[in-house]
Amino acid sequence: MERILIVDDEGSIRKALQIGLASENYEIDSASNGISGIQMGRQKAYDVLIADLCLPDMTGLDVIEKIKATSPAVIPIVITGKGSMQSSLEAIRLEVADYLEKPLSLASVKESITRGLERRLVKRRETEVQARENLVRDSLTGLPDRSHFMAHIAQAITAGSRDKERYLAVLLIDIDRFKSINDTHGHKVGDGVLIELAQRVKACTSGAGIAARLGEDTFAVLIADAQSDEQVVQKAQACQHTAEQPMIIDGVQVRLGVSIGIVIKHGFLNSGDDVLRDAEMALAHCKKRGGGRVQVFDKAMLEQAVAALQFENELRLGIHNNELILHYQPIIRMRDRRLGGFEALIRWNHPERGLLEPPEFIPKAEEIGLINQIGNWVLEEAGRQFKTWQAQNPRLEKIPLNVNIAVSQFLQPGFTEFLEGILSENNLAPSNLKLELTESVLMEDSNRSIDILESIKEIGIKLAIDDFGTGFSALSYLQQFPLDDLKIGESFIRKLAVNAECYEIVKTIVDLAKKLGLNVVAEGVETEQQLEKVKSLGIDMVQGYYFSRPVEGSAIIDVIKPFR
Ligand code: C2E
Ligand code: MG
Ligand code: MG
Repeated sequence: MERILIVDDEGSIRKALQIGLASENYEIDSASNGISGIQMGRQKAYDVLIADLCLPDMTGLDVIEKIKATSPAVIPIVITGKGSMQSSLEAIRLEVADYLEKPLSLASVKESITRGLERRLVKRRETEVQARENLVRDSLTGLPDRSHFMAHIAQAITAGSRDKERYLAVLLIDIDRFKSINDTHGHKVGDGVLIELAQRVKACTSGAGIAARLGEDTFAVLIADAQSDEQVVQKAQACQHTAEQPMIIDGVQVRLGVSIGIVIKHGFLNSGDDVLRDAEMALAHCKKRGGGRVQVFDKAMLEQAVAALQFENELRLGIHNNELILHYQPIIRMRDRRLGGFEALIRWNHPERGLLEPPEFIPKAEEIGLINQIGNWVLEEAGRQFKTWQAQNPRLEKIPLNVNIAVSQFLQPGFTEFLEGILSENNLAPSNLKLELTESVLMEDSNRSIDILESIKEIGIKLAIDDFGTGFSALSYLQQFPLDDLKIGESFIRKLAVNAECYEIVKTIVDLAKKLGLNVVAEGVETEQQLEKVKSLGIDMVQGYYFSRPVEGSAIIDVIKPFR
């Protein structure tokens, strides 16, 4: 209930206003002179102060000034005699809201009060919004920040809950490989890019929508006025197009790749956090496919993510519970049909799903960053196993054990030291270990890869390139790397006997590999016919079901007996 203070020396006016305004649900006090008015004003905070300009002891403006000193938000209204000067500098300074001329009409008093209160409310809202915006702006780009954006989403959700037709969409915009811009051109250009992108993103908003910077190179747009999903997607595409136009920052021309995760909500039953989480999932989807995409969140994505999370938990638990095991497959030398090596192949002894093959969990382990932990365990376990076999069969001291190495494992800092540790712990010769690398290792960052390969080679550990021909590397590429073996994958061997073209391709690979002094291994040899083809190509070694399937560690001594 608003409080009104009337300061007027005319008792009839005080009484008339008291009675006239009583129906309006105001709390009304009155004073008959300046001094008592000021006193009352100090004791209570009034919303409206109606003061007669001419009081016996002072002017109405004096009263206003004194009361404003303690209640700055009070709305001053001045009663003047007919024809008196309506505004003075003093009155302006005191922000007098209105002047009422005697004789007063009750209607105009009421109107004046209502107008004053309304104006004050609007002003308060404005200052509130301003204060909030000043507080939550991102200092680099000047855009609202995450908390401000979340407040806007919350607001849109509340507004939408009253209107079932309402539509809300959020675009989450992220620069692809922003780090490389910073790395290549420096942080000053990086900052310039963010400022420029902020402007472009802002230009994508319309109506009640806003743009914000949520984090380092992540921006968001709230679309509150879309009519259809198609329209939202079109807006996102337009925004992506704008963002990807070349920009010149500090004399450097930069061209961004931008991904946009989109979430569209119809029912609005979600919280702002849910909305953003879904948009993040859609964005992650874009990134996983190499960026430069626009992706709308859907339910399948959520289910996938839940399944992935569950899988991740199971795998972590599996590692912890020692559910991972190694199988081993012999590699046979064609020249004399004696044992040339083994390959360690991982399996997951899943408590419910049984024995899982590597393609069922290795790619996922790579994706969620568990591959290094797994791969390092494989090296430790294989090293331990191999030592115990050597104790049973000294001939194995001359034979290498092949271990598959994932790209990220290979690129781990301190990987060569880790390998040396495995050798010394198990008292193995460096030549007892052969690392199987895929072509992607060579493609990753060839200078860095060559350095690591050289240092591994220096220790005396052997190197093989696995599944050659399934990647993209050219044959001529091979000579740059210090390799020992080239393994031809099962998919080529399978076609060898039935496809003349394939035979020619493999022949070219084998001939070149031999010229480069590499030992060639054929994988996946299952039949006599395949073995004949492999022999005719002059391939050195064979790994395949024809000789043996991969077997448990405990069976290996028996499996290799015929090949001594
Ligand atoms: P890879 O390194 O090329 O391993 C050879 C694959 O061919 C093995 O499949 C093996 O069981 C299979 N194979 C061997 N002989 C035959 C045959 O005659 N016919 C057929 N059809 N297949 C044959 P596996 O064990 O399922 O492994 C698949 C892939 O998983 C491996 O391919 C390797 O890239 C990866 N992998 C296995 N163990 C590890 C590991 O410890 N670490 C990492 N990073 N990857 C691993
Ligand atoms: Mg392999
Ligand atoms: Mg292979």
